Amino acid sequence: MTVFPTLPSGKVDIKSLDLSMLGEFLSSIDIPSEKALRIYQAIWQKHIRNFSEINTISKQDHRKLEQTADIYFLERHGLFPSIDGTQKFLWKIPQGGVIESVLIPESDRPNGYADRLTLCVSSQWGCAMRCSFCLTGDLGLKGHLWASQIAGQIQQVSQTLQSNQRITNVVMMGMGEPLHNYDQLVIALRTMNHNCALRLSNRKITVSSVGLLPALLRLTREIPVNIAISLNATTEEQRRAVMPITKKYSLRDLLDTCVTITKLPNQRGRRITFEYVMMKGFNDSLEDAKRLTEILKDIPSKINLIPYNENPDRDILRPAFEQVKAFQTYLVSRGWYCSIRTTRGIDISAACGQLGKAFQIIKQPT
Ligand code: SAH
Repeated sequence: MTVFPTLPSGKVDIKSLDLSMLGEFLSSIDIPSEKALRIYQAIWQKHIRNFSEINTISKQDHRKLEQTADIYFLERHGLFPSIDGTQKFLWKIPQGGVIESVLIPESDRPNGYADRLTLCVSSQWGCAMRCSFCLTGDLGLKGHLWASQIAGQIQQVSQTLQSNQRITNVVMMGMGEPLHNYDQLVIALRTMNHNCALRLSNRKITVSSVGLLPALLRLTREIPVNIAISLNATTEEQRRAVMPITKKYSLRDLLDTCVTITKLPNQRGRRITFEYVMMKGFNDSLEDAKRLTEILKDIPSKINLIPYNENPDRDILRPAFEQVKAFQTYLVSRGWYCSIRTTRGIDISAACGQLGKAFQIIKQPT
């Protein structure tokens, strides 16, 4: 018999069920599973807070649901607007802490009209990966988020938008390692994508990972989302020095797995994004750029350079802009798609690697 996830109230966390699990749950409480779709829709599109608001099912069904399940919403703990338009949302969770989502209006147009509204979503409270340069890792893993909390970040941030705005892209690049919370991630991804739920195309969803290889392979076979890998280094020793996961899954195995992934029918025509945090004097030389082209040569890929966001807890420095630009120019001249990630939300500690340090003042980038 299926065990359904429960909330601290002891009732089933109905928002942590995907559509097929919801059907099973309904059967278990004697509601015909055919009603799953309208209940799913009421929860995710009508944003109901009480089952009695679902007017497409009977009063008897309301009662059965009320007795056995709850509709969970994240508790908003704070909202920090950045001068650059980015907004950081803090959510208090029953596991005992605070997690974060970052809303980033993006524009490719000169007039600054935001044609993309990207939400950076957390998958865990803290993180177990302990990459040496990342502040979220300092917390260690405090807890896995429930599917209701992962998909809920998107639903609840959407509810704060004006009627002509919608979240167009989701990046699983907030706190945590999404593939370390695999089962909840997959349920949340199904809810993000479903037409009767959050209606985001899988092509607009990116899962970013340090490269937990078995889970990475499994995910790419299961759901055709975009994949981003935090690479950050070009040799085994260099990556091991900053990303402890390399001791478990070597750089070689990571790259081989990426080759496999890009050949899957699910991923045909896609490129893997490699995120490369640039740290001064560590991985920012043109030799690094050259090695990068060598190790990625068999993988249809894009490279996203992330100039390091400095903070008082680390002596790591951001390379000069010219250095980052020269690195990019080298890659582009050899035929690579290579972008430089603009730093967003630095004044509210919402930039990459700063999540979890909510109230700390971060040095402004030069
Ligand atoms: N655990 C996943 C999801 C987090 S994404 C992953 O590692 O991919 C967060 C991204 O921010 C990662 O690419 C990470 O390498 C990068 N990052 C961490 N600290 C940073 C910092 N101080 N400056 C810039 N990027 C950083």
